[in-house]
Amino acid sequence: MTHSFYDEGMLVTVMTTQPIDRTLDYKSPEGGCHLGAFVEVPLGPRKVLGVIWGKGTGDYEYSKIRTISRVFDVVPMRLELRDFLEKAAAYTLTPMPAMLRLATRAPRLTDPPSTQRVYRRAKGEPTRMTEARARVLTFLNKSGDLTFTLKELTKHSDVTSSVVTGLVKQGIIAEENCPRDLPFQSMNLDLPCKKLTAEQFDAAEKLTAAVASGNYGTTLLRGVTGSGKTEVYLEAIATAMRLGRQALVLLPEIALTGEFLTRIERRFGAQPAEWHSGATMTERRRIWRMVGQGKAQLVVGARSALFLPYQNLGLIVVDEEHDTSYKQEDGVIYNARDMAVLRASQVRAHVVLASATPSLESWANVQNGKYTRLDLNARFGMATLPEIKTIDMRNEKLPANRWISQALQNKINARLNVREQVMLFLNRRGFAPITLCRACGFQIGCDQCDARMVEHRFSKSLMCHQCGDTKPMIEKCPSCETVGRMAPIGPGVERLGEEAAKLFPDARVTVLSSDMYKTARALKEKIEEIASGGADIIIGTQLIAKGHNFPNLTLVGVIDADLGLQGSDLRAAERTFQLMRQVAGRAGRAKKTGSALIQTYQPEHPVIRAILAGEEEEFWRAEAFEREQAGVPPYGRMAGIILSGSNVTQVFEAANMLAKNIFALTRIDAKVFGPAPAPVARIRGRHRVRLLVKAGKGVALQSALVEWVSQVRLKGDARLSIDIDPQSFY
Ligand code: ADP
Ligand code: ZN
Repeated sequence: MTHSFYDEGMLVTVMTTQPIDRTLDYKSPEGGCHLGAFVEVPLGPRKVLGVIWGKGTGDYEYSKIRTISRVFDVVPMRLELRDFLEKAAAYTLTPMPAMLRLATRAPRLTDPPSTQRVYRRAKGEPTRMTEARARVLTFLNKSGDLTFTLKELTKHSDVTSSVVTGLVKQGIIAEENCPRDLPFQSMNLDLPCKKLTAEQFDAAEKLTAAVASGNYGTTLLRGVTGSGKTEVYLEAIATAMRLGRQALVLLPEIALTGEFLTRIERRFGAQPAEWHSGATMTERRRIWRMVGQGKAQLVVGARSALFLPYQNLGLIVVDEEHDTSYKQEDGVIYNARDMAVLRASQVRAHVVLASATPSLESWANVQNGKYTRLDLNARFGMATLPEIKTIDMRNEKLPANRWISQALQNKINARLNVREQVMLFLNRRGFAPITLCRACGFQIGCDQCDARMVEHRFSKSLMCHQCGDTKPMIEKCPSCETVGRMAPIGPGVERLGEEAAKLFPDARVTVLSSDMYKTARALKEKIEEIASGGADIIIGTQLIAKGHNFPNLTLVGVIDADLGLQGSDLRAAERTFQLMRQVAGRAGRAKKTGSALIQTYQPEHPVIRAILAGEEEEFWRAEAFEREQAGVPPYGRMAGIILSGSNVTQVFEAANMLAKNIFALTRIDAKVFGPAPAPVARIRGRHRVRLLVKAGKGVALQSALVEWVSQVRLKGDARLSIDIDPQSFY
């Protein structure tokens, strides 16, 4: 890394986190500043955060240029991170300040290091034991020498602060000052790993060699669920850390981390840094700083962990790499899986993409030689892959408002009788997707969006899944004013829960859906409870398809396999294939054999047949062939343009204007489709119009797009956003 230093008074240019798409000149402050330093600069009447980007441009009169107000006491931004931000900005067509905001998302980043009061267990027992006191002490006894802030302590043990101060007064709890940002406990690299099977060992060796080479590379680690992918990549992590490099594991769902963290702790004897939206402010700030100083060896986090200022990043693992939640859809639109590859290539790190059902993108990148592929074909130990069968719903003749077929019901009973767990999968939150007036046919919609309100009986309200707005449940039709004829139509997981409770009165039924748990912690606890046998029938959405380990679960029932196959999404087949295989993979993870039953009205559908046959390679090849013929990703490039605004005419005018003037795009042989109202034509009161650009692989799509969209002058509150490689078309 080149070290550049600017003496006091020298002109420097600063990239701020404010929406100004260029750098601004300032004078270096007293004491000078380094390239990459995090600084505070005056901007109009305000002080804003920025980073020293380089030598000043000198476009303004020197005497008018203001001086940097403050240089923060944190490690300056490394050139590699800046490079990454610039490349990511150019790829996603995101203004640099927005990119910089992603990289500075640590609260009180700019405060000087300070101390805080922390509490830990001292000796002795209180004179009088109360239930609250017992809770605090049990918690502290479990935590050994660890210290906690008052806030953490009261939260973890669910007591008021006066309970803690009472115990401090008696000397049962010790109160001390410590620096706010402590290094993370170091990982013990001498602990033994599990004895790997021959197949696992071979994969681990290859990954280890790749990490040790010190060169960039990406490996797709494909292995059926339960084959030990995690065990294998833990060895790659160990290697990176042995070489003094940091490792990052990206996970798609916070709920997953509970089990995962325990595994890390067992393997390395310490907790990693946990970076996600549920982490406390203090913790985020600590992680940001410690990662920068190299005092956090292992970070486990959500996609934004890619933007932390690693000192020496050697490995990025993207677990469940096919997961759609890696695509950030609002604000800065980026795909964390692709950005991980970019980030790693910048610092000669290795990437492991792990999945049982890889994305077609990654599969294709193996085919074209960009990625290496490793396979784990056997489930570990006694566990065998579940047998997957369909239930042909055309023969079932279910009565109205029933979704569990007789065939499925029989199988469920058989499992319940031998005290095994059953999972029912339905990818629909809430009670019912539609609420309709039986008298006039009116459907309750959202006032702000072109979407139906979904009944959530659990929270006794109607909710819009686009904007989150809620309305109370109603008895009287807003249109014809008939009372008592409003009826729920179709099933959501809550309604399925009711049906299951009726059909299986002796079973404990649990409905698991992200909206039913207020905090990630509550959800995590629920999942742990289920894993240890706290439910007989688990009903859930997509959330339950993801890597949770329920050892006693032996039957998975898919209520409606046809749901995902509808619609025009180019990835509908791929998604359904992945989702069904993932869900089915939940069954029979331990010693007992599992099975999966898929309810469908179209058992002959090629995707359903592929799911049953488990001929993955064949499925990928067929899917790849079709996409190649159609010239769509990953064999062609796409960009989605969304114009939105409160005035529908203005929005359409702008879209039509773009559609007519496509010289910049025809030059690169790109085609434009649309404009058309977006599938969700209004969100939060803003009308939405889409255009879709299709181009060949290897063309300079981004620069053409910039030139093309720069022709349009947006009026009023209209906005234009570009989604490179769109994943969803809503
Ligand atoms: P995947 O990530 O492919 O779903 P995991 O790594 O989670 O698979 O492995 C599934 C289960 O099998 C886990 O409980 C794991 O601890 C266990 N397991 C896998 N490989 C081994 C091994 N070699 N020795 C002991 N247990 C193993
Ligand atoms: Zn809405």
